[in-house]
Amino acid sequence: MVMKNIVYIIISSILFLSCSHKKNEIQLEEKNPYILVLGNAQDAGYPQIACQKDCCQRVFKNPENKRFVSSIAVVDPISNESWIFDATPDFSEQAKLLSKHLKNEKQLPDGILLTHGHIGHYTGLMFLGREALGAKSMPVYAMPRMQDYLIKNGPWSQLIQLENIDLKPIREDSTIVLNERISVTPIQVPHRDEFTETVGFMIHNNNKKALFIPDIDKWNKWDRSITDYINEVDIALLDATFFKNGEINRDMNEIPHPFVEESMQLFENLSAKDKRKIYFIHFNHTNPLLIEGSNAQETVLEKGFNIAKQEIQIPF
Ligand SMILES: [Zn+2]
Ligand SMILES: [Zn+2]
Ligand SMILES: [Zn+2]
Repeated sequence: MVMKNIVYIIISSILFLSCSHKKNEIQLEEKNPYILVLGNAQDAGYPQIACQKDCCQRVFKNPENKRFVSSIAVVDPISNESWIFDATPDFSEQAKLLSKHLKNEKQLPDGILLTHGHIGHYTGLMFLGREALGAKSMPVYAMPRMQDYLIKNGPWSQLIQLENIDLKPIREDSTIVLNERISVTPIQVPHRDEFTETVGFMIHNNNKKALFIPDIDKWNKWDRSITDYINEVDIALLDATFFKNGEINRDMNEIPHPFVEESMQLFENLSAKDKRKIYFIHFNHTNPLLIEGSNAQETVLEKGFNIAKQEIQIPF
């Protein structure tokens, strides 16, 4: 009798698995555009060079815990097109992750949109150059100062001379149409703008919207209201560099970011629906949101927010 039951369970699970597998395949075929998270770490990556603290030792000892630098892609399965937001030092591996979502063995996105000139956000462009891929006119969308910086400084200038990249100028609050469904609007934000200005992006998919702001100084330094934006959009991927004050042994005023604790407080009175739109991203190596099952992760989820985990897909 027991044996019979076991056989029944095994057969029914096989049937269930094969059906659900089929269902997934059909969903993939019919899928609308979605956001794919390609990395969620701050510029320096996770682990961070020479860090001897527990936060990074757990990665040096167990490479499965590694996370790539913050980047997202918008994938359009209908046209088999994709665009990547920021070219990070992990760009080679992130392009590989992205290629798993593309048909016909396509290995590269159809364009790169840059937020700003800090190391985690554009240096991956080097992999398009002569010593690496030797790309042919990869479209790179950049704001005026970002564009100027690439034109005037090597090795980036060589990418332009050799036509590895094709610079596409973009302007604050001015929308660029990427295809019949997808368009993007750069939104300027306050940040340490030593080399370039900094933007976030509003990504439009038909009439749905996703906001991506991986780097910003404190929310109250901005002349726009983040809560108004959250109200307006369907997804908001937001700077969560540090979980709380005192997290690193440096004057944190020199590197201002909204602490996750501050953001959660600011967003406390939003509706449950609005809170669910928020995905925290761009974690410093000291941020416990990088650790699966940490108390910090639990707190964020309990309060109704989301964590932009690497490789998750966010439909919109
Ligand atoms: Zn950054
Ligand atoms: Zn560390
Ligand atoms: Zn930055």
